Amino acid sequence: MNFAVADIEVNRVEEFVDPNCDPMTFFPTLTPEIVARNLDWMAPQFWDTARNMISLTMQTWVLKTRHHTVLVDTCNGNHKPRSYFPAADMLNTPYLERLSSVGVKPEEVDFVFCTHMHIDHVGWNTRLENGNWVPTFPKAKYLFAQKEYAQYLPENYIDGKAPMFVDVFEDSVLPVIAAGQAQMVAGGYQLNDRLTIEPAPGHTPGHYIVRAGTSDDTALFVGDAIHHPIQIAEPHLSTAYCIDQKLAAQSRTRILEDCVEHGHLLVPTHFDPPYIGHVRRGVQGFQFVPGR
Ligand SMILES: [Zn+2]
Repeated sequence: MNFAVADIEVNRVEEFVDPNCDPMTFFPTLTPEIVARNLDWMAPQFWDTARNMISLTMQTWVLKTRHHTVLVDTCNGNHKPRSYFPAADMLNTPYLERLSSVGVKPEEVDFVFCTHMHIDHVGWNTRLENGNWVPTFPKAKYLFAQKEYAQYLPENYIDGKAPMFVDVFEDSVLPVIAAGQAQMVAGGYQLNDRLTIEPAPGHTPGHYIVRAGTSDDTALFVGDAIHHPIQIAEPHLSTAYCIDQKLAAQSRTRILEDCVEHGHLLVPTHFDPPYIGHVRRGVQGFQFVPGR
C-alpha cells in the first residue's frame, strides 16, 4: 500500500514518466523571474535546472474502500496512435501487470473515475481486442462529467471546430458508452459516504476532482487542476492545455484554500516523487509540503 486515507487503501500504478516537458511552453505566462524565486524549494526534486525541464509522471490512483475498487484516471493506454504526443504513441507498457501487482485484476474494478477526457486520463479505459477498442474493465461503471462529454458532440463544436483530443474521445470514451458502462454525472455526485465528485472546471469544461475519506481524514484527487508543484506557490499559472486559463486558476486556488483550511492531503495526477503532499499558506500563494 502507498498510503491510507481514513479506511481507504490507496495504491499508485505508474505508466511512464515524461522527462521532456518544457515549462516555458507548458505554462504560457511563466517567466524566468517566477522560476528564479521558486527554484530554491523546487530543485532538484521538481525542476531539472541543467536542462530547464520538468517531468510529468503518468499514473493511476487505485482506491480500495470497504466495498469497492476504484481507479482515478487511466493514463494513456497501449497501442494507441498518438503521433502528436510521441511519448504516448503506440505504447506497450505492462500497466495491467502493475495493476495486478497491487492486487487488482481488470474484472475486479468497480468504478473508473475520469477527471476529464484528455489523452493521459482515459487511455486505459479501453484496450485493443481483435482490432476493436473494448472496455478494459468489463464490470466497471465509468464516471464522466456530462459537461465534458457534451463538448465532443458535433452540435456543440465551437465555430465548427472539434475540441482537443477528439480521437481520444473516439477510441477511449465512445466504446465505453457503446458497452453501456458509462455513467454521466451532472455537477457534484456522491458515490457513497467515502467518495464524492466535485466540479473543478477550467482545465476542461467538465473537469472534476474526487474527494475521498471522512471529514477527519480527507484526500483530494485533483487530476489536472494542478499539474506541477510550481502551481501551488504560483496558482495563477495555468497550462497551454487549459481551455479557460482564468477559470482553471480559480478552481486551483479554491482547492488549495480547502487543503490549507482543513489539512486535506493533495493527490495530483502528474507530480514526481513523493507524488502527494500537504499545503500551507506561503509568503505569496501557498507552500507545498511533500509527502504523507
Ligand atoms: Zn494530464
